[in-house]
Amino acid sequence: MIEFQNISKTYTTNDRKITAVDQVNLSIDRGEIFGVIGFSGAGKSTLIRCVNLLERPDIGKVLVNHNDLLSLSKSELIDVRRKIGMIFQHFNLLESKTVFHNVGFPLSLAGVPRAKIKQKVEELLAFVGLADKADHYPEQLSGGQKQRVGIARALATDPEILLCDEATSALDPQTTSSILDLLRKVRDEYHITILMITHEMQVIKEICDRVAVMEEGRVIEEGSIFDVFSNP
Ligand code: ADP
Ligand code: ADP
Repeated sequence: MIEFQNISKTYTTNDRKITAVDQVNLSIDRGEIFGVIGFSGAGKSTLIRCVNLLERPDIGKVLVNHNDLLSLSKSELIDVRRKIGMIFQHFNLLESKTVFHNVGFPLSLAGVPRAKIKQKVEELLAFVGLADKADHYPEQLSGGQKQRVGIARALATDPEILLCDEATSALDPQTTSSILDLLRKVRDEYHITILMITHEMQVIKEICDRVAVMEEGRVIEEGSIFDVFSNP
C-alpha cells in the first residue's frame, strides 16, 4: 500500500545540512496500523510528509498503491492525494466554521453537491460520536472532541490511507485511548491503512500491528510490537 524505497531528505539552513531522513526502506500493507516511534528530531514527521509529498525526498521512491509519487503528473498527484487523509497534533480545525462545515469543507472544495455533503457529514459525525455537535464551533469542544472532528474531516473524501501526525500527543491518557479505539474502528469499518508517528509508547503498544523505530533519520528496528519491544 505504502512503500518507501531508500528515501533520503536533507535540509540545508544557513549552510548547515541536516539529513532528516536517511536511506529509509519500509513497506506498509493495506489495512495495517503501522507506527513510527522515536524522539523529537528523529525524522518521523519528515517521513510521514513524504507520503502526500508535503515533502519531497531527494532520492529514493515513494509508492502509494504501486504509483510512484515522484513521477506523477500534477493532476494524477491530486487524485492520489485525495485518497490520503491526515490528522494532526493540534487538530488544525477552522475556528470560524462549525463542526458541520469543518467536516464538509474538503467536499465543498471538491465541488460536491450540498445534499451529498449533508448526507456524508451526518454519516461521519454519527460515526465519530458527535452527531449532536454539528452546530458547535471548535472552541466549544474538548481536545478529544476536536480530534474526532479532525478524523471525520479526514474521512470525508473516502481516503484509503490515514496519516496521523502525533494525533494523540495533546490529549490525556484516557482521551488518547478513546481516540485510539476510534482509529481501530476506522481501520475495521472503512478498511483504511493507518500510518502514525508518535513519541508515545502507549500509543504504539495499544494499537499498532507493526512498528519502526527511528533515530537520527534512520530506521533502527522494525517488526511486530512483540519482536521490537520484548528484548531481554
Ligand atoms: P520528528 O518528527 O521526529 O521530530 P522531524 O522530521 O520534524 O523529526 O525533523 C528531523 C530533523 O530535520 C530535525 O533535526 C529538524 O530540526 C530538521 N527539520 C525538519 N524540518 C525542517 C525544515 N523545514 N528545515 C530545516 N530543518 C528541518
Ligand atoms: P449555517 O447553516 O451553519 O448557517 P450555511 O447556511 O452555510 O451555514 O449552511 C449551508 C448548508 O449546510 C445548509 O443549507 C445545510 O444544508 C447544511 N448544514 C449546515 N449545518 C448543518 C447541520 N448542523 N446539520 C445538517 N445540515 C447542515
